[in-house]
Amino acid sequence: MIKFLNTLSGQKEEFIPIKNKKVGIFVCGPTVYDWPHIGHARTYVIFDVIVKYLRYKGYKVKFVMNITDIDDKIIDRAKEEKKTWKEVAEFYEKDFMKDIAELGINSVDKFARATEHTEQIIKQIKVLIEKGYAYQTEDGIYFDISKFDDYGKLSKRTVEQAEDAVSRIDESINKRNKGDFVLWRLSKEGEPAWDFETGITNSAGRPGWHIEDTAISEKYLGQQYEIHGGGQDLIFPHHEAEIAQAEAASGEKPFVKYWLHSGFLTINGQKMSKSLKNFITIKDILKGYLPEAVRFMILSTHYRSPIDYKEDLIKQSEAGIQRVLELVNKLELIKKSGPEEKKVEIDEIIKNVQMEFNAKMDDDFNTPEAVAALFNFIRIVNSFIDNQNLDRKSAEKAIGVLKEIDEVFGILPKKESGIPEKIFELVQNREKLRKEKAWLEADKVRDEVKSLGYSIEDTPYGPLVKKS
Ligand code: AMP
Repeated sequence: MIKFLNTLSGQKEEFIPIKNKKVGIFVCGPTVYDWPHIGHARTYVIFDVIVKYLRYKGYKVKFVMNITDIDDKIIDRAKEEKKTWKEVAEFYEKDFMKDIAELGINSVDKFARATEHTEQIIKQIKVLIEKGYAYQTEDGIYFDISKFDDYGKLSKRTVEQAEDAVSRIDESINKRNKGDFVLWRLSKEGEPAWDFETGITNSAGRPGWHIEDTAISEKYLGQQYEIHGGGQDLIFPHHEAEIAQAEAASGEKPFVKYWLHSGFLTINGQKMSKSLKNFITIKDILKGYLPEAVRFMILSTHYRSPIDYKEDLIKQSEAGIQRVLELVNKLELIKKSGPEEKKVEIDEIIKNVQMEFNAKMDDDFNTPEAVAALFNFIRIVNSFIDNQNLDRKSAEKAIGVLKEIDEVFGILPKKESGIPEKIFELVQNREKLRKEKAWLEADKVRDEVKSLGYSIEDTPYGPLVKKS
């Protein structure tokens, strides 16, 4: 039984999909106007792992993510860069896709751009106007929060606070209530605009930020679905507004059954963000560390707690993933050339790590404790290996369970990013020379391997290569 904290109720709840084992999940995607940083990576890695875990448990998950490709920030960036808004959005979207692919975030079924869903957006706004929830002003169409009794049920508030995403707050003197938010913003001269046939003059405009998500999710996941995720900063006003729009338009409650929010990645205690200019881009961190180390760093903290980033953290994470890799490499050697005779019983130990992994993940996706269970398993298997007690079949089973867990975590370095093929070739060559008793040449190859930053450990089962 999976349980996790639902922001809507503030309680840990048992996860029961609306229908059978089908799960619809929507996670707010990026606004594509700048390079993504490791704060973004935190949120997207967490939801990648949650989706992979649900799939591992047999749920049929449909994972949708929007791309905000029209927004004031994009328009401003286009002015700065002397480009069109479309050029800016396309450029940074491509960059985002590349970064998340490198980080192994590959569980999303559908990326949906706002500008490709203006038809659905307009349709939803029209329903809100017809039902009396939306009104027109000189500068746009707004949602009247006083008409929606449940406004505030997610965040337990209805007014903005100083720390909210200020740039998103819809300021207008024409609003009925201070907290009303924009659904459709009329474009100024020279700004991108889509036609909106509401009967008002000069209705060419663009969607507000919140409506794109509900229009897109209605198209791909229906009027009601299971999980909506995002970082904590999105609870208010963004997710609160989504609930108001969707429930007012469809009349169905709840719009989303479970709301999941990830904590911030901070630096010196402050949220990593573009506006504070305290960010490290994904691209920059990947220059020095493996993508799996970034994932490991993120998974080592519970998804709701803050991670205060320090270089030491990523260094420790890199060491952690190298330990997993080292064990898998040793096990591969034993699988090929280890003893046939069974001396230890590994089945029980494998069952234990699987049980622990499931128990920890079932309990509010407790990745740090699931990681601890994995490392306990690694310690036990290493002690078998050190005592030369592990046989071929057991090694194969151990590899199996490590790979099974890694389907969810994605922390095991891919061979090509771990140890380059050239190093393996040199090691094979050294083995050949050793068999021919050409000791001097074999030592020279070992030195060459060392000069390239790797070491060779000769184990009873053959040579083991490590990053030195
Ligand atoms: P944005 O592009 O700012 O709208 O952010 C996209 C997603 O990344 C949202 O779900 C944010 O909550 C999340 N996010 C942005 N900065 C951070 C951070 N420092 N830590 C964790 N998540 C973040």
